[in-house]
Amino acid sequence: MPLVSMRQLLDEAAKGGYGVGAFNVNDMEQIQAIMAAAKETNSPVIIQASRGARAFAQDRFLFHLILAANELYPEIPIAMHQDHGNSFETCKSAIELGYTSVMMDGSLKEDGKTPSTFEENVAVTKKVVDFAHPRGVTVEGEIGVLGGVEDGHGAGGSGLEHITDPDQAVEFAERTGVDALAIAIGTSHGAYKFSKKPDGSVLKMDVLIAIHKRLPNTHLVMHGSSSVPKDLQDIINQYGGKLKETWGVPVEEIQLGIRNGVRKVNVDTDNRLAITGAIRKVLWTTPEKFDPRDYMKPAREAMQKVVATRMTQFGQAGHAGDYKPISIAQIAKGYADGSLTTQPLVAAR
Ligand SMILES: [Zn+2]
Repeated sequence: MPLVSMRQLLDEAAKGGYGVGAFNVNDMEQIQAIMAAAKETNSPVIIQASRGARAFAQDRFLFHLILAANELYPEIPIAMHQDHGNSFETCKSAIELGYTSVMMDGSLKEDGKTPSTFEENVAVTKKVVDFAHPRGVTVEGEIGVLGGVEDGHGAGGSGLEHITDPDQAVEFAERTGVDALAIAIGTSHGAYKFSKKPDGSVLKMDVLIAIHKRLPNTHLVMHGSSSVPKDLQDIINQYGGKLKETWGVPVEEIQLGIRNGVRKVNVDTDNRLAITGAIRKVLWTTPEKFDPRDYMKPAREAMQKVVATRMTQFGQAGHAGDYKPISIAQIAKGYADGSLTTQPLVAAR
């Protein structure tokens, strides 16, 4: 099976009423963990790489690892996605490398830190859409600004400072033609999302619902959606780590989002915690060990467990074989003839 367009994967998720986890990768073991979890749960997958990951792993290594995943698991649809592209050039390079989806995060300027203006965001995102769609590549945009920083990317601060305005979201989607839209509803990147236990009203679900009603064909994306489970934090701290107490986004909140148009859920922190906890445990309890496989294997298994759990919770489990992949060339035709339009509902304007 060739790499699949993320648009197709999310369109299918919308039909089936489920969400798809988008898991970040930097190395071979993380890709193996995701694929093993996908096989275990029979799930379609989105594998995503940030700019930091592309620099760390080197583009060619990373891309060939994805091809290997594709070769070894032909029954699993895989979309390869650029996470948080900071510029047209970053997205263009991912598309030229063979990624089937890119995020142009124009909510921030090219430095990945300073919030941009609405017009700047529209202009750069539209430019990426105009380059990507004729090539059959999916585009995710972002409107509003998330809290926190991850991989050096982010405006910092709390997730409640720049909540997405539904009117702006609709105008943004209409003017850019993005396939998927990341919205800011109170989530933050990184491990330290909330400093007290979330009470079930941590996310601005009314904003999400308002946007979904008017943009039913634009797939909504939740970033910063790790749940930061206490048991994973505890393993790290039990074996010499020093994490401060923190809370993530409860899975029930994500599931509420999925019932209201969220089709892509970004998860990175939970996997980082699982890997680090597993490695710490081995090094702390058996300090005589020095073969990297002695700790990389449990680390990979710990990540697989988290990913498989999320795939089941998001509802994508069992759906890998629901559909045949449409070729990227066919997807490009769909954009050209208007059958893949994401324009807002006229009645809702
Ligand atoms: Zn993000």
